[in-house]
Amino acid sequence: MLKLDNVTKVYRTGAFGGGSTTAVGGVSFEVGPGEVVSLIGESGSGKSTLGRMILGLTPVTSGSITWNGTAVRPAKSYYREVQGVFQDPFSTFNPVFKADRVFRMIKEVYFPEVPPAEWAERVRASLADVRLNPAQILGKFPHQLSGGQLQRLLIARALLLDIKLLVADEITSMLDASTRIDVLNLLAELKGRGLGVLYITHDLSLGTYLAERTIVLRRGTVAEMGPTETVFTGP
Ligand code: ADP
Ligand code: ADP
Repeated sequence: MLKLDNVTKVYRTGAFGGGSTTAVGGVSFEVGPGEVVSLIGESGSGKSTLGRMILGLTPVTSGSITWNGTAVRPAKSYYREVQGVFQDPFSTFNPVFKADRVFRMIKEVYFPEVPPAEWAERVRASLADVRLNPAQILGKFPHQLSGGQLQRLLIARALLLDIKLLVADEITSMLDASTRIDVLNLLAELKGRGLGVLYITHDLSLGTYLAERTIVLRRGTVAEMGPTETVFTGP
């Protein structure tokens, strides 16, 4: 379970300790096993800062973020269970390397002992999970693939790790409408298989599609939180 307790992030801005921005101010919530929660807020409300802190990529100023009771940190043991996918899939890939290099890096870091033939089979299975045809993907450079294919590739990479929670930060905002539906359908299918998802978006309609629970962020604080249908219909 992911647990945020009174999490605050203050960015120091300007020279000589001049100014500061409270991007996140005292946020607490939990995401239970297999739960799909959407985190919704306007631009600048602190969503990405929260997403990065949850993934251990930005330190919290105060408060705590724990995964199954342990403070999150950017470590293999954590990324085995919790993975992030972000808005711009192209920025995740180095354009000079073929896209399947993302799998090779996962193998080197996490599964050096798995024999090559078995690894190839696992990659094939995870591509099938996201409905990508290996023959159309492996061996291609990232610019030869679409944004939707790359997002699905990044989800496939996460699935190789047997993750328990996917932190999806605006993952469909750069996709065209039909690809967006494909990716949302994929998340719905993964949810059916027990994957937890924290779905971060500025788009109300996308958030409600998947999540049983919704958290509305406003200027770095939780403005509303509850079952998705009550958050949107009010008291
Ligand atoms: P959102 O993802 O909801 O658009 P962000 O987390 O990106 O919100 O930003 C929240 C606030 O923190 C904004 O006021 C933004 O300008 C500020 N902010 C974000 N990142 C930084 C940073 N690295 N340094 C200073 N201020 C930042
Ligand atoms: P530990 O302390 O558990 O051994 P490390 O901090 O040494 O973990 O290892 C971090 C490793 O995780 C790095 O080698 C890096 O390649 C890998 N890593 C970092 N970010 C990600 C990510 N988003 N997905 C998968 N692996 C990652």
